[in-house]
Amino acid sequence: MTFSLAIVGRPNVGKSTLFNRLVGKRLALVDDQPGVTRDLREGAARLGDLRFTVIDTAGLEEATDESLQGRMRKLTERAVDMADICLFMIDARAGVTPMDEVLAEILRKRAKHVILAANKGEGSAADSGVLEAYGLGLGEPIRLSAEHGEGLNDLYAQLMPLSDAYEERAEEEAPEVDVDVGEEDDDSPRPITKSKPLQIAVVGRPNAGKSTLINQIMGEERLLTGPEAGITRDAISVQIDWEDVPMRIFDTAGMRKKAKIQEKLEKLSVSDGLRAVKFAEVVVVLLDAAIPFEQQDLRIADLAEREGRAVVIAVNKWDIEDDKQDKLKMLREEFTRLLPQLRGAPLVTVSAKTGKGLDRLHAAIMKAHRVWNRRVSTAALNRWLSGMLEQHPPPAPQGKRIKLRYMTQAKTRPPGFVVMCSHPDKMPESYSRYLVNSLREDFDMPGTPIRLYMRGQS
Ligand code: GDP
Ligand code: GDP
Repeated sequence: MTFSLAIVGRPNVGKSTLFNRLVGKRLALVDDQPGVTRDLREGAARLGDLRFTVIDTAGLEEATDESLQGRMRKLTERAVDMADICLFMIDARAGVTPMDEVLAEILRKRAKHVILAANKGEGSAADSGVLEAYGLGLGEPIRLSAEHGEGLNDLYAQLMPLSDAYEERAEEEAPEVDVDVGEEDDDSPRPITKSKPLQIAVVGRPNAGKSTLINQIMGEERLLTGPEAGITRDAISVQIDWEDVPMRIFDTAGMRKKAKIQEKLEKLSVSDGLRAVKFAEVVVVLLDAAIPFEQQDLRIADLAEREGRAVVIAVNKWDIEDDKQDKLKMLREEFTRLLPQLRGAPLVTVSAKTGKGLDRLHAAIMKAHRVWNRRVSTAALNRWLSGMLEQHPPPAPQGKRIKLRYMTQAKTRPPGFVVMCSHPDKMPESYSRYLVNSLREDFDMPGTPIRLYMRGQS
């Protein structure tokens, strides 16, 4: 990636259409209903031989609302500050509107490089709008048709020289430095670098505080949060350095009540959650302290376990808990009872609002990631196995004792072990579970899914 390009402009001018064209696949939340809106989205873009990051800003259908307009301004400012280049898009058929003027003003003052695009430029209906665009004081507009793919050559011609400049800059930058997160001998987590950040998903029920948490981590209000009905987000990701560790955080759709489209959004958000879990190395299940371990929370935590992800449970809104000690005790009991499959997973309390506990959350994430990457040497495993066999020999179904011969770690992320044995099909579930729990304890692997495979020897 050489540079980043943010597409900004008022709602409905065609930003997402261009974004999709540049990214080449339908990443967008496909929905025509007003009120279903997105937040900043990033994608890997191609245009000819150019490769860059494209950022799409929110399209807010209800932008006539004063406060939403204010929010949009703010979001545009963020995008401008974040991106190397801004593509400011207007609708040539509609001509220049007052809202366009407002955004153009921000860009004139703030942006490093602005490319002006008059979209929906196919056909003569756009002629006067293209002319009006000159009046914005942002240079010559590119006449685009995002929908029909016209004008992309002109876009390329404007981006090319800028791209060269950024390429030179990239060469001057220092090489990437790996962040060493290993502590134990047997741990060899993959190096975490800027181009391979630690991948995290924050999942949880609507209103658990996911956006607030991510905003707090980022130290700025990049995500749109607010009480307006109908504001929602697609699953999106942001990349940041959190305490010097490069991380990419997936935020799953935060839903706001909107009776009409509620059901549809819920479906969307479930699949978003799934997508985020699949993407993540560490899944942070964010609970609301006032209503912890609801059905939805349990489902997503179980899903994360089944997908083999490292899991951290974070209990949010801890600032409004009175009796913290009792509450914590209760939470731990509930956790053990309701999520036995995640035994030992870290449970931390946080306040996304005040930022309290975020250092603990960071430490828990790093630890979970380390354990998830854990590799135990074959020698250590077999020493351990013979000890286990002495202490608690395997059962003898129908009088024939199952012999466990040898064991090795077959995989990491999450850790998976193979035990060579006689009659693998007769191994009772309870003995496997016993082995898994002991492995977990003896090799200090809390909270990560552990896979154990029994294999017969031929
Ligand atoms: P955004 O909300 O600003 O991201 O705008 P969208 O990408 O959702 O586009 C808004 C509407 O304009 C959609 O119905 C698109 O199909 C339409 N649209 C986008 N680009 C063009 C174009 O080049 N020509 C025409 N005629 N319509 C377009
Ligand atoms: P999301 O739907 O999970 O993204 O939740 P939001 O981040 O939008 O938060 C939902 C509501 O909970 C908002 O009104 C937040 O201000 C509030 N909230 C979030 N975190 C905290 C917290 O740590 N303490 C308190 N008291 N309120 C919080």
